[in-house]
Amino acid sequence: MNETGRHMKLLVVGIDGGSWDVLEPMLERGMLPNIAKLMQNGSYGTLKSVHPPMTMPSWQCYSTGRNPGQVGIFGWTQYDREEGKIKLNTSGALFEPTLWYELSVAHKNVAIINIPTTYPPPRVNGVFVAGMPPNEASPYFNPPGERLTAKRCGYKVMVGDVRNPTLTDLKRTVGSKFKYAKLKTKNADFLHLTVYASDYVQHFHYGEKLLEDFWVHLDKEIGELISFLGKGWNAIIMSDHGFTKLKGTFYPNEWLASRGWLFGSVPGGALAQLGLTRGRVRALMEAIGLKRLADAFKGSGKRLLGTETGAIGGEDLNNAIDWNNTLAIADSNYCIYCLERGIAGEIKRELEQLPYIGNVMYGREIYRGKYLKDAPDLVFTTKHGYNSVSTLGIGKIHGMHEWKGCHTMDGVLILHGPAFKKHARGVASILDLYPTILSLFKVKPSRKLDGNVLKKFLREEYLCRKKK
Ligand SMILES: [Zn+2]
Repeated sequence: MNETGRHMKLLVVGIDGGSWDVLEPMLERGMLPNIAKLMQNGSYGTLKSVHPPMTMPSWQCYSTGRNPGQVGIFGWTQYDREEGKIKLNTSGALFEPTLWYELSVAHKNVAIINIPTTYPPPRVNGVFVAGMPPNEASPYFNPPGERLTAKRCGYKVMVGDVRNPTLTDLKRTVGSKFKYAKLKTKNADFLHLTVYASDYVQHFHYGEKLLEDFWVHLDKEIGELISFLGKGWNAIIMSDHGFTKLKGTFYPNEWLASRGWLFGSVPGGALAQLGLTRGRVRALMEAIGLKRLADAFKGSGKRLLGTETGAIGGEDLNNAIDWNNTLAIADSNYCIYCLERGIAGEIKRELEQLPYIGNVMYGREIYRGKYLKDAPDLVFTTKHGYNSVSTLGIGKIHGMHEWKGCHTMDGVLILHGPAFKKHARGVASILDLYPTILSLFKVKPSRKLDGNVLKKFLREEYLCRKKK
């Protein structure tokens, strides 16, 4: 036993969609000097996301240290077998104890800033600024009085235009959070700050100068925050999933429809041709017309799903699917739910034949826990550079999504400071961070976790060892 737990100070900078695919070419050209320094003096590796590698459920899994089967969240939306329709997940659905809950109970002061899908903000021993509030006016600070402090730093949740943000707006939005985080380092033992802008800038501007300029700025902010903290602090840079340049898109619901497993109709989409009367088209137009497409851009999560012209996804599929005849449906981009027993094997075999598909796995093989019954029957990956989008109405099985970048399983992990080894390398899971962080603070987890303490990255004296 050592004293390190009592004096532990840890900063985690979460970079939504942080990826070596983006960082490596920039590091080679010397464009990210601060990140390079952290890597030189610390350890780094790849941080594997959970399936599906999306913002929801990845941040929920980081927050609870448990896999989606234990958290019960498999995407922004998921098929509810009892209700027989697709439902929208909210952070309110999180019933598991969280990292900040356990640290708070252990009397550690925490400052949790801008983790996506954490609205409404829970009470903690310290401050909690929820990520993805419905809007700037929402009560996303706990305690509520923090709003005043944050607003003095110019705290801004999102840029004005998510698709085409200006560099100035990005700098201001991201900078305000770093400024606020600096203030909180005074009291916090554990400070987590997530940068979310990286996700949408990479979706819409992958390979463009704007993305490089954004990362150059982010590198500067990270460098300034870490030098502000001074010696004694530890820092982890991590991401919820990776990113890469998009080469092509698979539309699993269109594919299921083409194979006769899914029936439905979307105005303007290819399925509208399938046995539709003029009256039915009009009824559908009214049901899922312009209003719904506009609605898709309201609300913090949904507006980022990227809806293409004429295509609908998520909850809006409820009105487009012919539930009486449909046997399988794709949701959350990489998940397939079978509405009839015994067809998963056949779908799996056919899916595996497609050129852009990586692995096709049974949900019961990759998830475990009390919500396994709610898990998708099949979960698949796509080959590097290809993504899957579970919208309907685009009229083709394979194409090019409007995004320029897409998610991958491989995120980034950099560990720096007195608790971490220098020059250690390796692969870790996002689920390993929870037990590692608790271990650094010498806090015993209140229940069994799905990940492991990252011993390969920790220095000997920071490892909790059982006495011989
Ligand atoms: Zn994300």
